[in-house]
Amino acid sequence: MRCPFCGSENSQVKDSRPSDENSAIRRRRVCSDCGGRFTTFERVQLRDLTVVKRSGRKVPFDRDKLARSVSVAMRKRPIEPERIDRLVSGLVRQIESSGESEITSAEIGELVMAALRELDPVAYVRFASVYRDFREASDFQAVLRDLASDRIERRRTALGFDDEADDTADEKPQ
Ligand SMILES: [Zn+2]
Repeated sequence: MRCPFCGSENSQVKDSRPSDENSAIRRRRVCSDCGGRFTTFERVQLRDLTVVKRSGRKVPFDRDKLARSVSVAMRKRPIEPERIDRLVSGLVRQIESSGESEITSAEIGELVMAALRELDPVAYVRFASVYRDFREASDFQAVLRDLASDRIERRRTALGFDDEADDTADEKPQ
């Protein structure tokens, strides 16, 4: 590890300890040439993932950016932040497990829409309107028609049982 002060490549590790709840190792180093002290971190590197934008420009995949666009769509919706966080983690896992080193922003958009469609229809329509660049009311009507057919499908599968309602009843404090 090159010394940040003098550029020498001779440094010694003085101390090494786990950090960030064992997700990283922190090492204290001393430069053998100038005596400068510095710290390095070792972390697991998940596969590098590149996003190809519509313009063709390539940028590194950014989990925070994905999380932000999801929370904008979720603003003021009655969904706990933990669920949103789980949704984002699920999306990241899906993206990382695709085995590709590049993904288009369009593919990410479709994954987000599929996930939001399950979780919250309002957030789904909001996200779709931005992502698909809706210009006319008829664009919304098409999406709403799709959602309506989802609901009919779900009602058929659920046979009249509403799991969501049962869950919240259980969690109510006494
Ligand atoms: Zn040095």
